[in-house]
Amino acid sequence: MTIQSERWCDLHCHTTCSDGSDTPRELVARAREAGLAAVAVTDHDTVEGLAQATAAGGELGVEVVEGVELSVLHPPGNLHILGYLGRWDQPGFQAILRRVQEARSNRNPRMVERLRELGVDISMDELREMAEGGQIGRPHFARLLVAKGVVSSVHEAFDRYLKKGAPAYIPKSVLRPEEAMEGIVSCGGVPVLAHPFSLGHRDLEELEGWVEEWREMGLQGVECYYSEHDPAFTRWLIGLARRLGLAVTGGSDYHGRAKPHIALGRGRGDLRIPYSCVEEIRRLCRQ
Ligand code: AMP
Ligand code: ZN
Ligand code: FE
Ligand code: FE
Repeated sequence: MTIQSERWCDLHCHTTCSDGSDTPRELVARAREAGLAAVAVTDHDTVEGLAQATAAGGELGVEVVEGVELSVLHPPGNLHILGYLGRWDQPGFQAILRRVQEARSNRNPRMVERLRELGVDISMDELREMAEGGQIGRPHFARLLVAKGVVSSVHEAFDRYLKKGAPAYIPKSVLRPEEAMEGIVSCGGVPVLAHPFSLGHRDLEELEGWVEEWREMGLQGVECYYSEHDPAFTRWLIGLARRLGLAVTGGSDYHGRAKPHIALGRGRGDLRIPYSCVEEIRRLCRQ
């Protein structure tokens, strides 16, 4: 008999409601297959998938943590704020979501236009088809470019056209960090800094300074365990979180087929996220 003494979770996952390839129900089923005790749904700028995921969690015996991932203004790099366990139907928060979703819809046709100017023949209709009713994001552009043979991989699509600074890139964030924190806190949710490696910091001292500023605005946790963090960076982040009194959390940023090299709960293969991360978030939420 095997005794499962350790429990694991994944607190950062995308579904077809944004740019992942599993429906919320499929994601929860996969979490169960992977032996995870808990999984969070954190789609980009939408909470559409949460009800289905929570219902599936009840049926399949997987704890579902209801979340969201907001894209936030931060010129040096990519600042994403995860929100967990809020009452997301509050009007103030819904207004924030509508604002970011509108910024996305304004951006998509402009990116299509840029690509057409660059000689790439794509249309909004094709993109909508690729997104299957979910919110359109750059990974859909990337998959369309691959399907059309313009590039040979999603990676190449980002490198040549879509990444920050590339010719078809158009920024979409409209939310200031304090608006994101306040929006999440105002519905009783817990704001957590996503994938700190992507912030564009010059050194760890700068990164620490930013985290302190965001804590003043209401930040309550740091995603220390993450697919792209090496063990030394993970350890440093855990130390930072402890020094600043912030929760330690973790997630793979699973997107299914849209990011085939990232496995649910396991990232690039060696990721493990202790269940204690769920407890840290739940403790903050109750306060
Ligand atoms: P968007 O929200 O439309 O700006 O797109 C963000 C999504 O694109 C996130 O899910 C990222 O994981 C993905 N992404 C960003 N940069 C890259 C990259 N260089 N290669 C692959 N995926 C990326
Ligand atoms: Zn994504
Ligand atoms: Fe992100
Ligand atoms: Fe993400």
